[in-house]
Amino acid sequence: MKNMMMPHYMFKTYDEITPDFLVSLGVKAVLSDVDNTLAPYEQPEPDDKLSAWIKSLSDAGITIAFISNNEQERIELFNRNLGVPAYWKSGKPFKKSLLRAMKDLGTDRTNTVMLGDQLLTDAWAGNAAGLKVIIVPPIKDKLNLFFRFKRWLEKGTIRKFKKKNNITW
Ligand SMILES: [Mg+2]
Repeated sequence: MKNMMMPHYMFKTYDEITPDFLVSLGVKAVLSDVDNTLAPYEQPEPDDKLSAWIKSLSDAGITIAFISNNEQERIELFNRNLGVPAYWKSGKPFKKSLLRAMKDLGTDRTNTVMLGDQLLTDAWAGNAAGLKVIIVPPIKDKLNLFFRFKRWLEKGTIRKFKKKNNITW
């Protein structure tokens, strides 16, 4: 049985994912989670580093869209100055919003990747939609029991991925 949590690539941070790398994969669109992937929960708007990264993607002809399970208010404020396609209350791990985003963007599973920090939601939804999945470790994890439980569920898959790909961090 396919492990729906298994990513295709892992990076330490989102900005280590270069436009050149994405272009080499034939990527036209990045569907990205927001919280803990691009910014910590408590950061209401993108910082300069994120804005620069998004611009570098767009200069390379790559569109980014936000696919978040968070509330409309959070995502609209975060996206206020970027104005990228954004989907809130996305219902990840279900693939519905990813399929909708690709339809809106005019891309398909061959030229779209899913980026996120959580295997149970982001990787699962990406795999369900048949996309390549890129995972980064959460920027700043919540410490409550539920989140720790989710990390525990993800641990085996991450270990397996790192071993297979000789990742030592
Ligand atoms: Mg997240």
